[in-house]
Amino acid sequence: MRTDVQERVSAPSLDVDAVRAAFPILAEPMSGRPMVFLDSGASAQKPEAVIRAQAEFYRHDYANIHRGVYDLSQRASDAFDGARRKVQGFLGAADWREVVFTRNTTESINLVAWSFLEPKLQAGDEILVTTMEHHSNIVPWQIIAARHGAKVVAAPVSDAGELDTAALRAMIGPRTRMLACSWVSNVLGTVNPIGEIVAAAHAQGVPVLVDAAQSVQHLPVDVQALDIDFLAFSAHKIYGPSGVGVLYARREHLEGMQPWQGGGGIVDRVSFEETTYGEIPFRFEAGTPDIAGVHALAAALDWFRQFDIEAVQAHEDHLMAIGLRALQQVPGLNVLGAPAHRTGAISFWVDGLHHQDIGAMLDLDGIAIRSGHHCAQPLHRRFGLEGSARASFGIYNNEADVEALAKSLRYIVGKYG
Ligand code: PMP
Repeated sequence: MRTDVQERVSAPSLDVDAVRAAFPILAEPMSGRPMVFLDSGASAQKPEAVIRAQAEFYRHDYANIHRGVYDLSQRASDAFDGARRKVQGFLGAADWREVVFTRNTTESINLVAWSFLEPKLQAGDEILVTTMEHHSNIVPWQIIAARHGAKVVAAPVSDAGELDTAALRAMIGPRTRMLACSWVSNVLGTVNPIGEIVAAAHAQGVPVLVDAAQSVQHLPVDVQALDIDFLAFSAHKIYGPSGVGVLYARREHLEGMQPWQGGGGIVDRVSFEETTYGEIPFRFEAGTPDIAGVHALAAALDWFRQFDIEAVQAHEDHLMAIGLRALQQVPGLNVLGAPAHRTGAISFWVDGLHHQDIGAMLDLDGIAIRSGHHCAQPLHRRFGLEGSARASFGIYNNEADVEALAKSLRYIVGKYG
């Protein structure tokens, strides 16, 4: 198993101590011990700048948006509209109208399923996903497929935990209506070759949805350069608030889509005889959104973008390399997969020791990891497992966190494994 591939020659240039100091919660104890937070893949912690932005917004700028003529509502609306342009810039989208605010990645994918694909779906059609998808990128497609006699098919994953791109290409055919693929696996950390995948799908006229829930916080993104049709992510995994998600969709797709939820804010004219719908992206944002949360997402993007993404990557690659090396040296511990390029997460299991017990025992040492199937049951089944333990990294993790994890695991596996 290769452990050296991701270690870079130059030293990481991120000031990790300064980054850590920006996160108040990291100074708090957990289970009576100094906290070692290794569960950012589930949800990341929030820097003071984001916490303050949200609180200050409620304190000074809060009103409902797009409906009031008074100053406060205008200011809240300007902040909301400004946040949309910030997300546009972050994603490299051509137009602010291509950014739809949702609750999370899951809702963004459901929106595409119901508004874009469901009306087109016919018996015998196929929706192509991969074996490493999160349930959020499987179940919405299954629900709409079942209504039309269509089916969800999954491209295989190799023993190393890499997507079999040759098999994926071969599975794209005349029946394929959509390809939905994660950029980074939340279990294996595998980084999929998204540009190559999009090109292969487009060569056959198939649109692509990219689940970027585990990538935007680790890798640079440019939806135009990659020619992506749809991309979904959650604010809470990129140091922003929970309750806010983003769907990027190419303008020509959005223009052709009908609303998926009815309500206020999406309409042009309503009567009991007929209702006409408003412009994009508002057509897809029924009801009052998480106004303060969207503002806090903008603050999170500002905070995150102060760092050079290459420095962030170098730091996280370094943690990944030393983390892999340390875990592989724990006798009896098995790391799931060995992809050539991985980021964010390492999952593992120990024969004879349940992953929940590993998680519970690490908690006694103040170490937060995740244990379970991580909403990826098909992937675990592919590896003959019911679940695994997962350590996942954020920008604030340091070598001491990795060492603490390895030390506790050596003790736990030595004693109980
Ligand atoms: N896709 C992936 C790859 C994920 O890791 C997650 C969150 N674990 C999701 C989708 C769903 O994100 P959310 O719960 O924020 O909708």
